[in-house]
Amino acid sequence: MTRTMTAFRLTDWGRAPELTTMPVPTPGPTDVLLKVGGAGACRSDVHLMHRDTGPWPAGFVLGHENAGWVAEIGSAVRSFAPGDAVAVMGSWGCGDCARCRQGIDPYCDHPQNAPAPGGGGGLGLDGGMAEYMLVRDADRHLVALPGGLDPVQAAPLSDAALTPYHAVRRSLPKLADDDATVTVIGVGGLGSFAVQALEAMTKATVIAIDPRETSRTEAATDGAEYCFAPGPDTSSDIRDLTGGRGVDVVLDFVGSADTHALAAAIVRPLGDLTILGAGSGTTAVGFGILPYEVSVQTSYWGSRDELADVIDLAASGVLRTRVTTYPLAAAAQAYQDLAEGRVLGRAVVVPDADSPSALT
Ligand SMILES: [Zn+2]
Ligand SMILES: [Zn+2]
Repeated sequence: MTRTMTAFRLTDWGRAPELTTMPVPTPGPTDVLLKVGGAGACRSDVHLMHRDTGPWPAGFVLGHENAGWVAEIGSAVRSFAPGDAVAVMGSWGCGDCARCRQGIDPYCDHPQNAPAPGGGGGLGLDGGMAEYMLVRDADRHLVALPGGLDPVQAAPLSDAALTPYHAVRRSLPKLADDDATVTVIGVGGLGSFAVQALEAMTKATVIAIDPRETSRTEAATDGAEYCFAPGPDTSSDIRDLTGGRGVDVVLDFVGSADTHALAAAIVRPLGDLTILGAGSGTTAVGFGILPYEVSVQTSYWGSRDELADVIDLAASGVLRTRVTTYPLAAAAQAYQDLAEGRVLGRAVVVPDADSPSALT
């Protein structure tokens, strides 16, 4: 008899995702069947839900930020056994190119050969907003969780923490001086981890920008020295704080036209302007437009080794996860709360939970 499960599925582009019943998948030789412990709700899913068409055929379960327990393994899986607690890499590349072999699937050379080009579980393939999830090529795409790290707390590590950790690492050379400054625009689900990573890895003065007072309060708790709501004077206030010179690094977790403009207005010559937010803003690059030798870059996800680093940092208490949990039946509510800025920390859908609760 076919086992069935409940899943939160994007059935068609341009249509709200819905709870559906579907068969529990059967793992192939290199796959693991994951019993989902937690699946984070990511703002990039909100962007996906509002698209009329997408990069993959519709008809997949959402949730690309997942952790749980190995339920069943395929015959060729070597590194994991049933019962293991694991986090899932979200991006699944071709598996054959040099980058995929290094565990940097997000930057795969042949994404057209991946099962969902540029995607992974929850992005073109079935993800974690379900009782079970199939993890393909599991030896490459799972990272073990140390004892004591609850999958509900660990789920956000695979995107909300990994993505800012990767971006901070890229800019470490620009943050080596004791008087370095960095502005984090948007200190919600991802940006709050950026503040924590900056505190742990640099001596930089951190300036957090966010319209939400609760997020600013959390950023201050995480170590941000200055926290502002954005306003007409924000760029001049930040310039004043830096003696007029501008900040060494800007991490923009929003990516709107306004935040792109703010980032360009406050970055210092030789600085890094890093765009992580998937908003629709753009930044013009050219002589006379930006200060000299500013490096403008997008930043997308991170490597398997970096995910292992992030998990170690969380296990040792250096990175703290704040989650608000939702049962699977309330997955739509989780995304709505996220879209409306009501979630403290990360919204995590917990298939076995029966009522929403805030955990810190
Ligand atoms: Zn995401
Ligand atoms: Zn590849």
